[in-house]
Amino acid sequence: MSLQEHYRSQARELLAAGAVKMVVGYAEGTTPERRRPVFITEPEECSRLVLDARCRTNLAGYLLREGLLSDGREIAVYLSTEGVRTINILAAESQLSSAQVRILGFEIDRDEVKAMEGKRAADFSEAILAHKERRKKQAPDELAAKLEAMNAAERFTFWQGEFSRCIKCYACRQACPMCWCRRCVVDNNQPQWVNTSSHTLGNLEWNLVRAFHLAGRCVECGNCGRACPVDIPLHLLNRKMTGEVLEAFDHYPGMDEHQEPALASFRKDDPETFIL
Ligand code: SF4
Ligand code: SF4
Repeated sequence: MSLQEHYRSQARELLAAGAVKMVVGYAEGTTPERRRPVFITEPEECSRLVLDARCRTNLAGYLLREGLLSDGREIAVYLSTEGVRTINILAAESQLSSAQVRILGFEIDRDEVKAMEGKRAADFSEAILAHKERRKKQAPDELAAKLEAMNAAERFTFWQGEFSRCIKCYACRQACPMCWCRRCVVDNNQPQWVNTSSHTLGNLEWNLVRAFHLAGRCVECGNCGRACPVDIPLHLLNRKMTGEVLEAFDHYPGMDEHQEPALASFRKDDPETFIL
């Protein structure tokens, strides 16, 4: 039995037994290469569930929508390691209870999809630790290496050029499972902190504010970059911030649901190398 079939039948059983009220998974998209989120509530609908190497979207953020978990019942959700880490962070930030999240875990290795054994986020700690060790050794891609070799003025010019294309659609924010505020600070107009129109200064402010807000929280799932209609290389910012936090604090977000946030915790033995 393929993994797709295996998870379809698990989803069917969970719904039929009333163990979960919904399965959040992937279905065929509008074009053959696309997959889209699907919200299944009836066992007979489970044949719509798809699982292949195109299932890249981190679905964890959908659990926070529309008060889905407010009745205390469980929901099953297809999640890769990044998704499981997201559940840990959202639990640590008191946005959900991990006991309500039944995980159908998988990993994509190049074009192959593999099962990850476990039901609750806590069952995946070994896989997450292995990810952390791999992440520490990961070399930067070509563009990231080029950016690292630039001086500060050159990097600023690069990012100003990239951000000049931003149309302030906020698709990156909407797609990000970590952007869970009901009202984003950039939508406030009394006072208005970030200009809403799409111009150089406001675009820079928006993208930098978002990057800092995600430092030590981003799981590098890539949802934001895939959602960006003008292909701004947001992954470079996310990777940079994640790498810095990993190096400075040995902090890899989403290790477990009790992990303290890197930028909201204090240790007396912090070397404080950022203080000049
Ligand atoms: S910032 Fe982007 S890569 Fe990071 S968690 Fe949000 S959507 Fe995923
Ligand atoms: S998705 Fe892209 S264009 Fe839209 S606000 Fe984010 S960075 Fe700007």
